[in-house]
Amino acid sequence: MKHIAHIFAVVFLAPSLGLAATCFVDIDSTDQMQFDKKAILVPASCKTFTVNLGHSGKLPRNVMGHNWVLSETAVMKSVAADGISAGAANSYVKPGDARVIAASKLIGGGERDSVSFETSRLKTGTEYSYFCTFPGHVLLMSGTLAFGK
Ligand code: ZN
Repeated sequence: MKHIAHIFAVVFLAPSLGLAATCFVDIDSTDQMQFDKKAILVPASCKTFTVNLGHSGKLPRNVMGHNWVLSETAVMKSVAADGISAGAANSYVKPGDARVIAASKLIGGGERDSVSFETSRLKTGTEYSYFCTFPGHVLLMSGTLAFGK
């Protein structure tokens, strides 16, 4: 009986335990210049984390474009300012910006994009922020991201 119980545990319980850590988040953005989440927690057991960004609005990318950019909170404003300087041709992210941990593409209404990053770039206890770098959006479109616990 013990043997059968063990097989049961491996076949039926192990897969569900594997799903305990959710290593992705779905986040929506709108024509009202909002993300639908204000905070994201990345479980410490995740090796990579994926952000699925949607845009449930109707306005095109050049009018109401949104992206999902991650950096330490301390440098968020300067990353966003440099992104505006980089312009639309660079989707408002400075090329090769080492402060940027992850950045999705710029999307318009009805579009989606996903971005994944290695959690080895995150430290427990450091505050991270995600934000949209489309000109003027960072003030309304930001949230915090934490790693672990
Ligand atoms: Zn935006």
